[in-house]
Amino acid sequence: MATEQMKTAEHELEMELAGLLDVERFDPPAEFKQGALLSDPAIYEEAEADWKGWWERQARELHWFKEWDQVLDDSNPPFYKWFTGGKLNISYNCLDRHVEAGRGDRIAFHWRGEEGDERDLTYADLLAEVQRFANAMKDLGIRKGDVVGIYLPMIPEVVIAMQACARIGAVHNVVFGGFSPESVRERMVFSDAKALITVDGAARKGKTAAVKQAVDEVMGDLASLEHIIVVRSKGTPCEMKPGRDVFYDEIMAAAAAECPCEEMDAEDPLYVLYTSGSTAKPKGVLHTTGGYLTGVSATHRYVFDLHPETDVYWCMADVGWVTGHSYIVYGPLCNGATSIMYEGAPDYPHKGIWWELVEHYKATIIYTAPTAIRACVKWGAEHPRKFDLSSLRLLGTVGEPINPKAWLWYHKVIGGERCPIVDTWWQTETGAIMITPLPGIVSTKPGSATRPFPGIKAEVVDEREGKPIAEGQGLLVLTRPWPSMLRTLFRDDERFVETYFRRFGKETYLVGDASRRDKDGYYWVIGRIDDVVNVSGHRLSTAEVESAIVAHEAVAEAAVIGQHDEDTGQSICAFVTLQGTQEGSPELEDGIRATVAERIGKFARPKRILWADDLPKTRSGKIMRRLLRDIAEGRALGDVTTLRDPAVMAALESQIRSEEANES
Ligand code: ATP
Ligand code: MG
Repeated sequence: MATEQMKTAEHELEMELAGLLDVERFDPPAEFKQGALLSDPAIYEEAEADWKGWWERQARELHWFKEWDQVLDDSNPPFYKWFTGGKLNISYNCLDRHVEAGRGDRIAFHWRGEEGDERDLTYADLLAEVQRFANAMKDLGIRKGDVVGIYLPMIPEVVIAMQACARIGAVHNVVFGGFSPESVRERMVFSDAKALITVDGAARKGKTAAVKQAVDEVMGDLASLEHIIVVRSKGTPCEMKPGRDVFYDEIMAAAAAECPCEEMDAEDPLYVLYTSGSTAKPKGVLHTTGGYLTGVSATHRYVFDLHPETDVYWCMADVGWVTGHSYIVYGPLCNGATSIMYEGAPDYPHKGIWWELVEHYKATIIYTAPTAIRACVKWGAEHPRKFDLSSLRLLGTVGEPINPKAWLWYHKVIGGERCPIVDTWWQTETGAIMITPLPGIVSTKPGSATRPFPGIKAEVVDEREGKPIAEGQGLLVLTRPWPSMLRTLFRDDERFVETYFRRFGKETYLVGDASRRDKDGYYWVIGRIDDVVNVSGHRLSTAEVESAIVAHEAVAEAAVIGQHDEDTGQSICAFVTLQGTQEGSPELEDGIRATVAERIGKFARPKRILWADDLPKTRSGKIMRRLLRDIAEGRALGDVTTLRDPAVMAALESQIRSEEANES
C-alpha cells in the first residue's frame, strides 16, 4: 500500500515537472528580492563602466597590511598580476579579522561525522587551532614557499591545515580523499612536497579505510617528503616511521599558542590543485593570494546573497575540489559565514541524510552538483519529503550543465518553489564563479547559468577566427583578465599558454567549453568543445540531447557521444540510466527517440541507445564522455586516474562488445 502511494506521488510529481518544462523563465521571488544584498541591475553597468575599479572596490573589503600600487599589471600577457605591491594574509582575513571585531563566538563550522558525531567550531576556536598548527609546522622546519600535501577526509583538520599553510605562506596541494594513494604519491612527487598531512583512518559508509597504512605502501622511498603528519581521527592502527612521521595531536601539544601571520605578497602562491580530468590528464592549476581572495569572497557574498549573521550555508562538495577550496574554505570564512561541514556520503546511513541535516541545522543556502541532484531524483522525492526544508532560501549548483528536469525537481522538491537557483559556471582555472545569476536581480532559465558576474567579460566566438557570435553556438572565451584567474600550470608555463591562450591569442582565455547565447544574452554552456556532435551538418550539443532524453519520465541520467557514421558523418549514441529499477526495452527506446524528436527535432534522435546501470564519472561526479567515446570506437582507454569506479567501464565495455557480436 505504502509503495503504491509512493508510486502515485512520484507519478504526480513527474506530471507536474513535465508541465513546468515549458516555463521559460523564473523571476526572483518578491520576498527574496526585498531582502537581497543586490537587487538593482545597475550594478552590471556600473561594473562594466570601470571594471578595474569594481574589482578594486571588492579588494577593499579585505584587510591589507599594505595597499597595492597597481590594480592590474597586464604588461606580459597571459601572465597577469593583480594588486601588485599589496601585502595581506589570507588566514588573517578569514579568522583574526572576525575575532578582533568581536565575532569570535560565531560558529564557523557545524561539523557532522558520518555516525552522527557533532563538533561546532567557532571562529575563535579555529583561530586558536590554526595558530598552533602553523607553529607545529614551523617547528618541523616548514617555511614560506614550501609545498605541503594534504590528503584528508572531510574533518575540521582539513580546514585547519589549509588555513595554517596560508598563515605561514606554505603552498598547499590538497588531494581529494577519494583518490588512491598512488595518485597522492604522483602529486607529491610532481609538486616536490616537503610534508604530507594525512589521517589514520577515514569513514566510508560504515567502514573505516586504513589511510595511513595505504599511504605507507606507496610513499616509502620518497626522499623529498621529509614529514608525514598523521591526524588520529578514527583510532585506526598505523605504523610510524621514526624521524619522518609524527602525530598531529602530539606536535600540536608541543607547539606555542600564538603565531603571527606572514605578510604575503598579493602574487605569492596559495595553492596548487589538479583539475578533475574530465577531458584530459589533470592539470596542476596554480592560484595566488590577493586576487584569488578578492574573487572568491566577492562571488561568495553576492552569488549566495550571504547574510552572515543569519544564514546557515552548506556547500556539499568535498574540500578536495576547487569548489571546496573556494566555497567551503576561503570564501565563506573570509565573509564570516556559518557553514555546515559533513563527513559522510549522501546515501549513508540513509538516502535522506542531507535533508535530515538541512532540517537539523536549519540550513538556508545549499550548494551542490547536478550529478548529486540526479542521484536524488533517482532515489525518489520520498526521501527529502520526510524532512522540513522550509529554512532554505537559496539553492546553488555547479560542475556540469544541469538538465532542466533536474533543475525543476530541485526547484520544486527541495526549494518548495520559493528559492532561486544559482547555476554557477566556473572552473578550477577560474578560481571563482564566472557566469551565474545574481539571485535578487536575474531571472533564471532552467539549464542556463545566465550571465557573467559583474566585471567578467565572456563571449561566444566562432571556431575558425574567434569572431564574436551575437546569438547562437560557438566556443566560450573570457576576454578580460579577472583577479582569481590561474597564474600558470604548476611548473609548466608552456602547457599553460598552449592550453588556454594559443588558439585566439594571449588576451583571450579559451575555456574549452562550447556555449550558446540566446536572444536575451543568456549563456547556455552545452558541454566540452570535444563533445559537440555533428549529424548531417547539424551541430548538436551533447548537453541538449541529454536533457531531452532525461525529460522522458523513465530516465534518470544520460550521456551522449558522437560516433562515426557512414551516412551522416556522425551519429548519436546515448548511454541511458533508467529511474529506479526499470529495465530497458525496445518500446522505451522508441519512447526516448520520440521525446528527443519532440524537444529538439528528428535529426537529434539517438541512433544507438545503450542501457547503463551507471555511467563512468570522475571522482567529482562528472560524466567522462571521452571514455565512452573510447569504448564505442573500440580504442584503448585514455587516462583513467580520475575515474571513480573502473567496474562501470568494464560492465559497459562487455555490454558493447556482446551487442556488437550479436549485430555481426
Ligand atoms: P579537466 O579540465 O581535467 O578536463 P574539468 O574541466 O571537469 O576537468 P573542473 O575545473 O573541475 O575540471 O570543471 C570545470 C568544467 O566543469 C567547466 O569547464 C564546465 O565544462 C563544467 N561546468 C562547471 N560548472 C558548470 C555549469 N554550471 N554549467 C555547465 N558546465 C559547468
Ligand atoms: Mg577543464
